[in-house]
Amino acid sequence: MPAAGGARELLRRLHDVMAARQSTQSKLDQVTVLIAGALESEVASIYLLRDGMLELSATRGLKQQAVHVTRLAFGQGLVGTIAETRSPLNLAEASTHPRFAYRPETGEERFHSFAGVPIIRREQCVGVLAVQHVQPRDYDDVEIEALQTVAMVLAELIAAAGLVDTEASSARPPRETSPARLPGLKLVDGMGRGVAVFHEPRIVITNTVADDADVERARLKSAFARMREEIDQMVSRADFAGPGDHDDILETYKMFAFDEGWARRIHDGIDGGLTAEAAIEAVAQAQRIKLGSASDPYLRERMHDLEDLSNRLIRIVSGQSGTAAKLGLTQDSVLIARNLGPAELLEYDRRYLKGIALEDGSLTAHVTILARAMGVPLLGRVKDLRMAVAEGDPVLLDATAGALFVRPAQAVLVSFEERTALRLAKQAEFEKLKDLPAESLDGVRIKLMMNAGLRSDLPALDMTNADGIGLFRTEFQFLVSATLPRKGRQVALYRDVLQAAGDRTVIFRTVDIGGDKAVPYMDERGEREENPAMGWRALRLALARSGLLAAQARALLEAAAGRTLHLMFPMVAEPWEYAEARAIVEDRRARLAAAGIPHAADVRYGAMLEVPALAMVLDELLPKLDFLSVGTNDLTQFLLAADRGNPRLADRYDWLSRSVLKFLKLVVDQAAAADVPVSICGEMGGRPLEALALMAIGVERLSITPAAVGPVKAMVRTAQLKPLRAAMADWLATPGVDVRRELSAMAAAQGIRLD
Ligand code: PEP
Ligand code: MG
Repeated sequence: MPAAGGARELLRRLHDVMAARQSTQSKLDQVTVLIAGALESEVASIYLLRDGMLELSATRGLKQQAVHVTRLAFGQGLVGTIAETRSPLNLAEASTHPRFAYRPETGEERFHSFAGVPIIRREQCVGVLAVQHVQPRDYDDVEIEALQTVAMVLAELIAAAGLVDTEASSARPPRETSPARLPGLKLVDGMGRGVAVFHEPRIVITNTVADDADVERARLKSAFARMREEIDQMVSRADFAGPGDHDDILETYKMFAFDEGWARRIHDGIDGGLTAEAAIEAVAQAQRIKLGSASDPYLRERMHDLEDLSNRLIRIVSGQSGTAAKLGLTQDSVLIARNLGPAELLEYDRRYLKGIALEDGSLTAHVTILARAMGVPLLGRVKDLRMAVAEGDPVLLDATAGALFVRPAQAVLVSFEERTALRLAKQAEFEKLKDLPAESLDGVRIKLMMNAGLRSDLPALDMTNADGIGLFRTEFQFLVSATLPRKGRQVALYRDVLQAAGDRTVIFRTVDIGGDKAVPYMDERGEREENPAMGWRALRLALARSGLLAAQARALLEAAAGRTLHLMFPMVAEPWEYAEARAIVEDRRARLAAAGIPHAADVRYGAMLEVPALAMVLDELLPKLDFLSVGTNDLTQFLLAADRGNPRLADRYDWLSRSVLKFLKLVVDQAAAADVPVSICGEMGGRPLEALALMAIGVERLSITPAAVGPVKAMVRTAQLKPLRAAMADWLATPGVDVRRELSAMAAAQGIRLD
């Protein structure tokens, strides 16, 4: 793309051509000539959506007889792929792409390189703009961005000229009115009922080419000022029960809002001839391309923050009405959105917000963490959500069952209400068990601890009356921060955790970052790993970057001043790793003592057994341990070679498989013989049947998700362990026994509660 002046000139000329009184075809022809000239490309072609097909409507460089002859369906060829995915393609050698479809009538065989972008109007792809070159070459980011800007302007001009019928586009399926069940991923557990409220009526930018850049700059300036003011207010208004992780999240969000680099890029767009709205959108589009394909959840979350801010800014600058939050919820509502920014969620009236359904969303997303802190059920990854639901539809959100029921039939509604009532009744029942011990009918006391990682998890300690925190995932604080959390912030969090626990034990796990829990400020190599779960993570990374471990150790030691600190290391594969990590902590402890700084009175050290190989040398490690904690989430995936996150392997990833249980029994027996307490801290222990199996192989300590404490306690209190242990020993000794079936049958016979 030419420099700002040239860009402005191009946009102005595009505008003039489209506004002139002449035939449609001649307008489009002139547009391709202008684009080819400005981008110095040998071919520039415009494909437009006609009767559901992408039709070559004008070209400069391809054979003219192909115009209105070459037609491609969505998903067909490179052009169809761009339209289907609504993302650009940039290829040095077009024919190497698996979707390449050769069209002889175009004469395109001479051209090797290809770049194309979708022409999008009202969130629908209405065409494709493509350029081609004879020489194989990759187009750089600036060129692709320029193409996108032109496509955005074209979208408006084409629609204004009536060249595509965006409303009646055959790509859009007719709106449903019948009941539907949309599956999704449970991100925050719970159930909610209300009417569907769209978070954001999408704003259509109708004016992309500016008349006066100074006017646009002034509009942008005042919009920025207003947006920043609004965000400042929101941050100061955020009302939560106590301090929390949302502090870190909102700080990060604020940092983006005040980012001068972002503002400068929007100004560049205005310099290039765009209106303020179009310039904001152009920067957002460029960002989407850069980050859109990133698999790193942290980067994707950053993108959502930016999208959130871009939308907010466009709404302000265009004076169009705000989000549903601005209009105010007036009845019980379930919020519908592609994604939500953390600050946007905070704007809603919690009294009426009964649930949230998102097309995107992930477990570690900021909005998820906030929704959890607010106690609002959240269902994510709901495919085609905004197509299947209409504003005002009655909906039932059942995050527990992983589904959103839209326009539910009466029978579904009745069953939903029944399950909601049951859920409340069960909660009340578990609540009654709160002060009773987790003791089996034959007198075995099971220690039930809970897992935590966020400040917002802490109230659950008193609510469940758990015996302590058996796993505190310290990396969560690192994951929600934009920068490495400073010592002060770490100490403050650990202190809050210890204070909430009172006399109860808290076992802190040193950071398990790296691999799929990547944090950008630590990513020194920037390499993508083939197998992140088995990659550069946890203790491996901590030992290589020992400064990080030492700093964390210091924060933990200081936070535990005057009391016993329980500390464990994740992913220990060999005894020397444990020894080295422990030495780093001991060194910090000695330095604090020498400097007279108050610190932990005593330290108890543990290792997590997650790597199967460690079991083979456990005899060497046990004498050095104060406790052992088995991370069955990772251990199981490594034992069975079945990725814990892959839904296709859900059947293979079986905690009650004989191999897993036999393996665990070996470990438990060995630890018992060495008199080292052993606990299970993976999700396995939070499921009543699996927890029963663990008790049957001798486990007496579990650390589980807070919501499971009630159900597991109810199970323990209805079980007779002695006969179960004998039966389990038999099952494991008899080839081919289906442990799940046998155990379920025995539990039913004994009347053990498993719900
Ligand atoms: C585990 O792997 O079982 C575990 C508790 O650690 P995480 O789930 O955090 O990997
Ligand atoms: Mg693990």
